Amino acid sequence: MEFTLLHLTGKDPSHLIDLPEFKNCRLTPDCAAAFKKMSTAAAADGIDIVPVSSYRSFERQLDIWNDKYLGDRPVYDNFNRPVNVSTLTGVETVYAILYWSALPGFSRHHWGTDIDVAASNLMPENYELQLNSEEYAQGGIFARLTEWLDQNMDKYGFFRPFTDEAHVRVGTELWHISYRPDAEKFEKLITKNAIQEIIRDSHIAGKSCLNGMIDELYDDYIIHA
Ligand SMILES: [Zn+2]
Repeated sequence: MEFTLLHLTGKDPSHLIDLPEFKNCRLTPDCAAAFKKMSTAAAADGIDIVPVSSYRSFERQLDIWNDKYLGDRPVYDNFNRPVNVSTLTGVETVYAILYWSALPGFSRHHWGTDIDVAASNLMPENYELQLNSEEYAQGGIFARLTEWLDQNMDKYGFFRPFTDEAHVRVGTELWHISYRPDAEKFEKLITKNAIQEIIRDSHIAGKSCLNGMIDELYDDYIIHA
């Protein structure tokens, strides 16, 4: 399948299909097929993998970004402590947000290749999912899921893009997996020009700061993110 800039940036989801067996799960057809195969295999090993978040539109990511920039939604640092963005400069605020959130237009969740996963049968009843390291690391409720993914996900084409080993300047997300064969095609579409255009054409908070940060964004965040 050929992907375009509109697919890349979350502005056109026409390349995606919905998986009826899961709530709100939209993926590329190949990623969907691989995910189904993987979840069947995991279920046989006693782990019911469920998608918590998959495709996210540009508008949704823009809302998240703008809320965080303006202080209407919490921003957390690398130790999961809340950051008071009103005490930061614009550039500092951008870096603080980027630790856990992508620039709108450049979230891997726009692509339909990336999924945040949990395990429904490992979750206590009425549990409110946090998506944090405690839940997914050793000793956490999803430690078995993490271990299963470590051992098996590459057989189905999946990997984790946000880890220490990936050498990215963002938080480790053990719950975030990516379908490499399609994700690689999207990564190739990212250019500095595309970043510039997205910032120019959107109502994004911090626009004047962002305009001066294109090179850093491309080199340090987006090309890996
Ligand atoms: Zn994610």
